[in-house]
Amino acid sequence: MPHRHTVLHDAVIAGAGPVGLFLACELRLAGLSVLVLEQAEDPHSPLKRLPFGMRGLSAPTLEALYRRGLLDDVVAAQRAGAASPVAAHWARQPRRPAGHFAGIQFYQDDVDPAAWPWHLPSPASTGMAVTLESFETVLAARASAIGVSIRRGCGVDDLVSSGDEVAVHAGGETFRARWLIGCDGGRSLVRKAAGFDFAGTDPEFTGYSAEVELADPDALPPGRHYSAAGMFTYAPPGTIAMVDFDGGAFHRTRPITPEHVQAVLRRVTGTEVTLRALRLATTWTDRAHQATAYRKGRVLLAGDAAHIHSPLGGQGLNLGIGDAMNLGWKLAATIRGTAPASLLDSYAAERHPAGAKVLDWSRAQVALMRPSPGTRALAAIVRDLTATRDGATYFAERVSGVSLRYALDGTHPLAGRSMPDFALADGRQAGPLLCEGKGLLLDFDAHAPLHAVAARRDGRIDYVACDAKVRLGLSAVLVRPDGVVAWASEGGPDAGEAERAAARWFG
Ligand SMILES: Cc1cc2nc3c(=O)[nH]c(=O)nc-3n(C[C@H](O)[C@H](O)[C@H](O)COP(=O)(O)OP(=O)(O)OC[C@H]3O[C@@H](n4cnc5c(N)ncnc54)[C@H](O)[C@@H]3O)c2cc1C
Repeated sequence: MPHRHTVLHDAVIAGAGPVGLFLACELRLAGLSVLVLEQAEDPHSPLKRLPFGMRGLSAPTLEALYRRGLLDDVVAAQRAGAASPVAAHWARQPRRPAGHFAGIQFYQDDVDPAAWPWHLPSPASTGMAVTLESFETVLAARASAIGVSIRRGCGVDDLVSSGDEVAVHAGGETFRARWLIGCDGGRSLVRKAAGFDFAGTDPEFTGYSAEVELADPDALPPGRHYSAAGMFTYAPPGTIAMVDFDGGAFHRTRPITPEHVQAVLRRVTGTEVTLRALRLATTWTDRAHQATAYRKGRVLLAGDAAHIHSPLGGQGLNLGIGDAMNLGWKLAATIRGTAPASLLDSYAAERHPAGAKVLDWSRAQVALMRPSPGTRALAAIVRDLTATRDGATYFAERVSGVSLRYALDGTHPLAGRSMPDFALADGRQAGPLLCEGKGLLLDFDAHAPLHAVAARRDGRIDYVACDAKVRLGLSAVLVRPDGVVAWASEGGPDAGEAERAAARWFG
């Protein structure tokens, strides 16, 4: 008979990956009781370290970290990445890369930042990469410091939902949760046990990341290359990623032996390269599936539990952190009873399309990587387009996440976008004003009726009356706790409009 706890947690999160940890911090910031149940005993793994644990962070992720006062810690942790052979390879290139699409590189000096008029310079505007291990360490330290309980070696194995709580079975115990959030990765038990549909497309390839010792490390050309059988990236002396169009047949069906890796390496590279040793290897595919709903009663999904796709272009972690930033304050307001009607529904309404877009982005890359003459011809055209100013700007916009805009009611072009990091006349930056996870009403002209709009929200919106050094033509901006602009005004602000926007998001 499993031990049944009497404590009812506001939220139990399955999975202490980056998404589960970030979400735990968001919920705890709102003063809720949060328990994270993690299957693995040990948070460390060679696959979370260099070279394979490197993760590129997009603009929305960096902004989320900056706004919650986590960016400095992550930047300090980033130093671990400096020694990566992959980072060293790119550092040697004459031009600064801005990203890639299906392996087609595009460059920073081709990108036109004037295309993003709402982006102001900010500590969060420079892209960077961290190891998964150091990122999780920063998030776990923050979570523990603010009072999140984390139980490791305690994987969720079943759940039972009743009307107003969820019984979560894990490690021979039963935990009680008002809400359960599955952040337990691509093979999510929570998703399966709660009966979410997971729809999508099957894989075309098996991808390999391998750390090897080659008999002749100079036999392979460094960098990224297409071949008659797929694609490979080589960072000497022995870091290799390759894509083998086998229909995903090998992935997780057999052990990854040195003989197998050598055979695939020879086929994909079209060389007679010889493997002396296989130090570390993992496989992945381009299977692209997404939960058709993100909520079933009191069970929610976020991160890889809600969507999986190939790691091409490195977007999965960023998508998951975006889920957590979007969900945290909405769930917290729901639990505290201050949420306006349908606030929680807006989580899936905003994040499902964002996820679907990333899945399609990864599918389009797979289509452009197929080893056929027609595809190579098409890729050559895309390569030409990425080298134009408009082309590079388009691809950079999609990869960096700056194009993200939710379809909110407001008519102003800034509504639904990330708040620009206004430099205020008193020396403060707008971003860190969101560090407590509350809403923010920035009133550049100290308009008394706007003060009243914030005051009616009983501490849920911070009101800041201060001019900005660069206003972008605005007089006032209402910002949600996740940094998304709910309402913006040019000229004399209409307090009635501001009131309606505040009621929509803050009750
Ligand atoms: C080779 C590769 C390169 C990548 N590069 C990038 C990149 O550059 N940028 C990017 O944005 N993304 C990248 N990704 C994707 C990114 O790593 C994932 O999207 C991200 O880790 C998902 O985070 P998560 O917290 O949702 O899930 P995970 O990181 O999978 O964490 C889930 C956690 O849940 C735990 N768990 C599992 N089952 C249970 C259970 N039943 N009960 C309790 N706990 C459980 C797991 O142990 C794990 O700790 C890459 C992926 C790969 C494979």
